Amino acid sequence: MRLRPVPAAAAALLALVLAAPAGQAQTPAAAAPPPAPQAIKAVKPGLFMVTGGGGNTTVRVTSAGLIVVDGKNPGQTFYDDLMAQIRTVSPQPVKYLVVTHHHADHSGNTGRFLAAGAKVVAQRNLPAELDKFTPPANNPTLTAPARPDVTYAQTYTIGLGGKTVRLMHFAAAHTDADTIVYFPDLKAVSTGDELNAANPNFDYAGGASIAGWITSLDDTLKLDWDQAIPGHGAEPFTRAQVVAFRGKLATLLDRARAQVKASTPKDKLVASLKLDDLWPFPAGFWNAMRTDGLYAEAGGK
Ligand SMILES: [Zn+2]
Repeated sequence: MRLRPVPAAAAALLALVLAAPAGQAQTPAAAAPPPAPQAIKAVKPGLFMVTGGGGNTTVRVTSAGLIVVDGKNPGQTFYDDLMAQIRTVSPQPVKYLVVTHHHADHSGNTGRFLAAGAKVVAQRNLPAELDKFTPPANNPTLTAPARPDVTYAQTYTIGLGGKTVRLMHFAAAHTDADTIVYFPDLKAVSTGDELNAANPNFDYAGGASIAGWITSLDDTLKLDWDQAIPGHGAEPFTRAQVVAFRGKLATLLDRARAQVKASTPKDKLVASLKLDDLWPFPAGFWNAMRTDGLYAEAGGK
């Protein structure tokens, strides 16, 4: 899904997922093709990423159990597939699940991890975002992901098996409940959807802020790491790739501010912006929620 063209069916699915109103589960329509199968790969010794089946999952192995970041799309099959992937690298129990934000493709199996005995940790704004959940029209019986049993405001440290993992909330960015997960001994971070190989998703209904996003990536870049596991995408980002992603966010916001300053009306804002050197935003991406949010963030009244 990185920078190569996606097949039409996959592009349609992506557009559908990204066009889903914030607060709703990002579940594809019944007729859409299933998401990519899950696959696990090593990022560092003792650190793995699982792609497919929703947002990326990160797995930190310690001698006393596993710390897992994000738990895939809601559903027993996605959970079972994830655990099967994890079992190929470790028989240890999952002691912690960190939920980077409330979107169901990351938080969908929180209840299953809780039932299996994991402690679930998220930023303190996350429960209020879950409260906004409404099931998608194509899956009306879907219920909101379960709440975490531990929340934190700005930082939270997990110690397990002699290893330290630090959770940080720097600013509202992709949502107002984002967590960045830092693995200091491995010089790696896991960012949830603050990094996305396809394009950033501005969930203004979930408290997003491009300005905050830039701040959060700047603060993340102050940490000592060389691999950043994104929320979506097959490969970790390098520092240079994160700097480039952050620069595109700043360019987008600068361009929007210039248009608002030039009195471009809201309904002409997106069409007025040069976007082709930033990301290939899918059809339907710039819905009213995102257009209204960008216009307001750029100073529009
Ligand atoms: Zn997300």
